[in-house]
Amino acid sequence: MTAATMDVIVSLCKRRGFIFQSSEIYGGTGSCWDYGPLGVELRNNIKRVWWRDFVHQRDDMVGLDASILMHPMVWKASGHLDHFTDPMVDCRECKRRFRADQVDEIDWTHYCPATKGNKFTIKAGEPCKHCGVRRTLCPECGKGELTAPRQFNLMFKTFMGPVEEDASVTYLRPETAQGIFVNFDNVLQSTRRKLPFGIAQIGKAFRNEITPGNFIFRSREFEQMEIEFFVNPHDRVDGRPADEAWHDRWIAECQAWFARYGLAADHVKLHEHARDELAHYSKRTVDLLYKFPMGWSELMGIANRTDFDLKQHAKFSGKSLTWFDEERKEHLVPFVIEPSAGVDRALLAFLLDAYQEEEVRGEKRVVLRFHPELAPIKIAVLPLLKKRPEIVATCHDLRHRLTRRWLTLYDDTAAIGRLYRRQDEVGTPYCVTVDVKTVGDPEKGETGDGKVTIRERDTMQQIRVPIADLETVFSRLLDAGTAWSEVAAAYPRAEG
Ligand code: ATP
Repeated sequence: MTAATMDVIVSLCKRRGFIFQSSEIYGGTGSCWDYGPLGVELRNNIKRVWWRDFVHQRDDMVGLDASILMHPMVWKASGHLDHFTDPMVDCRECKRRFRADQVDEIDWTHYCPATKGNKFTIKAGEPCKHCGVRRTLCPECGKGELTAPRQFNLMFKTFMGPVEEDASVTYLRPETAQGIFVNFDNVLQSTRRKLPFGIAQIGKAFRNEITPGNFIFRSREFEQMEIEFFVNPHDRVDGRPADEAWHDRWIAECQAWFARYGLAADHVKLHEHARDELAHYSKRTVDLLYKFPMGWSELMGIANRTDFDLKQHAKFSGKSLTWFDEERKEHLVPFVIEPSAGVDRALLAFLLDAYQEEEVRGEKRVVLRFHPELAPIKIAVLPLLKKRPEIVATCHDLRHRLTRRWLTLYDDTAAIGRLYRRQDEVGTPYCVTVDVKTVGDPEKGETGDGKVTIRERDTMQQIRVPIADLETVFSRLLDAGTAWSEVAAAYPRAEG
């Protein structure tokens, strides 16, 4: 078994249609990505299970879908206009731009005076082993001086309406959260919620990142799955202030969610923000880090945003954004716990964790061991012989029936062994094979047994199942989550 490198995942994603570079035929757009036929299914599955688990299955949550373009005052009130900046430095020679706080994390180019000016690429943060100097110049070209750090706002500016003037400037939202805060009262009035309750939203966000990279880890257009969970700061939960107790609950819930859908426990850890790392609105922030190939990096953040945002929007809009506490007979501004995850980073982590290379009968097998709920295709229906019309017709009929409940694909473009490997490589948990025994041979006067072979991806075990049982079997495996071993025990094994 081998862990996946980023290069391996990038190439698998392109080859099998998970992710393509945006506008590739024009040379690509800086750090934007397009999700292909399998990528869009995987992405939708992640969002669907997240929404189901955190919105539909909870009594204390509702959903929202706010627009991407908002009133520009939103960004003044939220602090994004003044604070959503990164310090950047520019190379005076090649004009490349870097984040000042990340420039030491890049491998650097060095023309070494101790070796007649030979060019070397030196590992990030390390000195040259010939002359001992550390990087001072541009890491990319190795020649230019870097400017002093300047603050750079990460929001994309645009114009609303036909006139490009200052009065019509607006921004593509850099987070979905603000759409929730400005709708707090609308949701409260229309749903009559009591604290604590949450509002969840999945949607696109845009950041003009200075140094995007690491595939879809940091891009300029991405998607977030965010919850703003409103609590009464005067309440006590588990003997502690409600906001602090709920913060810990949400950290545990988010960690459990990623574990449930496949991330190995030793690939995820918590990072508590130090005081000087905290955002201007935060009382406490804890990140979930994932062991990405480039090192431990943020998968999601869970912040206690206090009453900062609601108070700011009340101040700037002049509208009251409070909740009436019937018990204490007082209006109060709720505190907010914000679990905020990136769809793309989650997808990358799920891909990396699912990827395995194994040796099977002397051959390399690549398999994506996706949780069945995340797998883009749930079932592949494959003909053992594509020249037999009855076999092909049975396959199409099965595909048609099964796909109403689980995305099912038909493929006859190779021999069966190869078809299985192709499905393994994209993480399809089950293959159904129709063969001569299923349909019989009228020329020889043989009737079919009406049974098909089901092959399971991880164990590669095969069982022989009557067609009439298929929907029950798959509903146990794919809907009820019954273990393969338990379902398979009821049927005879088919030889591999
Ligand atoms: P980072 O420190 O990596 O820039 P952040 O702390 O600014 O991230 P948040 O503002 O907390 O990120 O956003 C919440 C989540 O949105 C992140 O945990 C991440 O999953 C996702 N996210 C943020 N920026 C990007 C990006 N440029 N590309 C992809 N996902 C992102």
